[in-house]
Amino acid sequence: MIERRMTREVAVGNVTIGGRNDIAIQSMTNIPTRDIAANVLQICELAECGCDIVRLAIGSVDDVKSLAKIKKILLSKGVTIPLVADVHFSPTIASDCLGIAHKVRINAGNFSDKMAHSKQFSDEEFSSGRQILVEKLRTLFSRAKDTKTTLRVGINCGSLAPRIVHKFGSGDVAMWESARECIDAANGVQFRDLILSFKASDAKKMIAANRMACSKMDEIGWDFPLHLGVTEAGDGNYGRIKSAIGIGTLLVDGIGDTIRVSLTEDPSNEIAAAKDILQACGARRYVAEIISCPSCGRTSYDISATLARIRDWIKKIPRAGHLKIAVMGCMVNGLGESKNADFSVIGTPSGNLAIYRGENRMANGIHPDKICEKLEEIMAHFGV
Ligand code: SF4
Repeated sequence: MIERRMTREVAVGNVTIGGRNDIAIQSMTNIPTRDIAANVLQICELAECGCDIVRLAIGSVDDVKSLAKIKKILLSKGVTIPLVADVHFSPTIASDCLGIAHKVRINAGNFSDKMAHSKQFSDEEFSSGRQILVEKLRTLFSRAKDTKTTLRVGINCGSLAPRIVHKFGSGDVAMWESARECIDAANGVQFRDLILSFKASDAKKMIAANRMACSKMDEIGWDFPLHLGVTEAGDGNYGRIKSAIGIGTLLVDGIGDTIRVSLTEDPSNEIAAAKDILQACGARRYVAEIISCPSCGRTSYDISATLARIRDWIKKIPRAGHLKIAVMGCMVNGLGESKNADFSVIGTPSGNLAIYRGENRMANGIHPDKICEKLEEIMAHFGV
């Protein structure tokens, strides 16, 4: 498993983010928040498929009221998944959500700064913009402390405050400087329940910004947890690969306490993708790890069908979740390449299969249709 950068623990409802807690999976509903019934249904589906925390777009006072109703209905159904209010442009609405949402997410770039990108900023105007932001944030953070609500400050490459862009550009330095203003405001009122995110639609930029933020925070001794995501990643394979590169690279570095895989698809698809990224990085383990060769002209059985059969069978056996199982086409490379697996299924020239544990053959001549039964029998022999 990966060695994680140590961060402080921050509660979001009944989920704790940071420290040694599991890296939490987040998603966001994609229905207007005023549609209470549809949001309740979507949130229940997300909770059912393994989402740990769900976010809703809050753009008006009516949305805040809808959020309160959604929360009440969910609780009446016994669904306790934490809810996050996603607020842009309005410190007032962000404040209204405190005590209702388990976490409020604001965007550092548009919390108080106006989005006039063509404007030039004098030093005085920059300082004045910073002062206004810090004061508004201090008010919000103080209220968040009173209501025991966690805040996430999102630093998005595409929506940095114009004065920040004017002074620092729009790369990792600018993103860090934007975050630093918010952290200064939090420190000013001793607010500690803060999570940060540094997002970009460009995976390289997102990686660079998070690495810089960690290195700066480590120097200063700040340990705020990080929420990872590649924004506007798209859909399908490309969206998943882009997210895996951005999020996965950082997870392997030990960076990241909660993730969202943003896909232009049904939100529940984000959860399956997030689980795959976490498992592939060794950050969380959901099912047995299966490795398989690509097959080649030496393969004498239907390896794709056998792989699918083994994968479908093993995921229904939670006690086998710690195992690594190899499915290999032939003995030529199969035995050596799979020696680190707990059990290896290897094709033989007859078209049947052999099962190995390390270099020891446990069974031979198994028809591919019978492989799961035989594996289960051998696993039981080894106490699995
Ligand atoms: S393990 Fe055998 S079948 Fe699979 S790719 Fe390697 S040589 Fe080919």
